[in-house]
Amino acid sequence: MGGTFDPIHHGHLVAADEARWQLDLEQVLFIPTGQPWQKPVGVTAAEDRYLMTVIATASNPAFVVSRLEIDVPGPTYTVDTLRRLRARLGPETRLFFVTGADAILQILSWKDPEEMFALAELIAATRPGHDLSDLLGAVPTAAGRVHSVRIPALAISSTDIRARVASGAPIQYLVPEGVAHYIEKRGLYREPGGGDPGEPGGGDPGEPGDLPPLADRDPR
Ligand code: ATP
Ligand code: MG
Repeated sequence: MGGTFDPIHHGHLVAADEARWQLDLEQVLFIPTGQPWQKPVGVTAAEDRYLMTVIATASNPAFVVSRLEIDVPGPTYTVDTLRRLRARLGPETRLFFVTGADAILQILSWKDPEEMFALAELIAATRPGHDLSDLLGAVPTAAGRVHSVRIPALAISSTDIRARVASGAPIQYLVPEGVAHYIEKRGLYREPGGGDPGEPGGGDPGEPGDLPPLADRDPR
């Protein structure tokens, strides 16, 4: 499951766990994006997004977080990541890409949707207000490679959570508790419109000295 995870929230976690349950998956790999080419401006430092994803998934033995995209400098494409995963797993392992239905509708703007469907099957978590008919009509290679998973209607989005933090609204039941604490500790999302309090790899949002620069921690 790829995503900006800015921040990760219960919508992501419910979708991932429902995909795991309904398709009997062995593992769900969460892959935070590096600098996403679709959202080049105002995205929180990759290390912060990575750490929030680790915190949110820590208690689930089937959930693992990957640095595959954040350790690659420059923009990364989903198809390149899938190619690397496929090479690592070998041809026999079934590989699925879990995504919300809204993200699937952007698939046509991806670098190479045909190759994507050859490398992996797709699990579409249907989110309120989106359906798959547009996609299935537009990409013939998608036929038979897309699994739809209905998830309990969770109208949670990272955009909304960022806006709530900026306006002082509570987020405690929208994200895991540890993620809410991390957001507060690092002072994330306080600026409306997505100000970035920490430079990639090292910012200190508030009081100096209460957190070592992220670059000094061993990320592996
Ligand atoms: P933003 O509002 O910044 O776009 P987001 O909440 O959509 O953030 P992303 O990191 O962009 O989160 O999404 C990662 C993946 O999770 C995408 O495939 C997206 O469709 C899916 N997703 C996001 N929110 C939900 C949700 N509430 N239910 C199911 N899937 C979701
Ligand atoms: Mg999104």
